[in-house]
Amino acid sequence: MSVTNYVTLEFPAVPENVEFARVAVACFASQINSFTLEEIDDVKLVVSEAISNTVLHSYDVSGGLVRLSAVRNGDTLTVIIEDFGKGIADVDQAKAPAFTTDPDRMGMGFTIMEALSDELRVSSVPGKGVKVEMRKSPHGAAKDSDEPEA
Ligand code: ATP
Ligand code: MG
Repeated sequence: MSVTNYVTLEFPAVPENVEFARVAVACFASQINSFTLEEIDDVKLVVSEAISNTVLHSYDVSGGLVRLSAVRNGDTLTVIIEDFGKGIADVDQAKAPAFTTDPDRMGMGFTIMEALSDELRVSSVPGKGVKVEMRKSPHGAAKDSDEPEA
């Protein structure tokens, strides 16, 4: 029987925490032995895109709260990144490739996150923040099943 392991971190939305969060989640994800190095790199990129978004877009004043939870259930990794900032009025529009509200950016963050996750869920209540939830298993197994592995 596998034990569910989890970690929850809270930190301010500042640029130096992008690298911190990607390394912390990579370390946690490496408990799933059958992840390849490439898959761990995918997890790192998803985390850095999501945390970068909290730094760039969530708060008018730098340093608002970010909560990151990583959960291991069998071989399935779930990472939830939440902020409590301005939120997104139209999530489907925000997820569209090349959509951005910042002309200096590419608008590809959500597209990359979706491509590298087995499942990506984005939800938001405008004025209350954004929640990004990604799931990934070795070899894309989390795509095929909603059930946690035994
Ligand atoms: P890139 O990620 O390529 O640098 P980007 O951040 O603009 O550019 P996405 O990550 O795809 O692109 O995000 C699309 C848009 O969604 C952003 O321009 C922003 O308007 C909005 N957005 C994303 N994350 C948040 C967030 N946490 N809070 C508020 N708005 C967000
Ligand atoms: Mg982005």
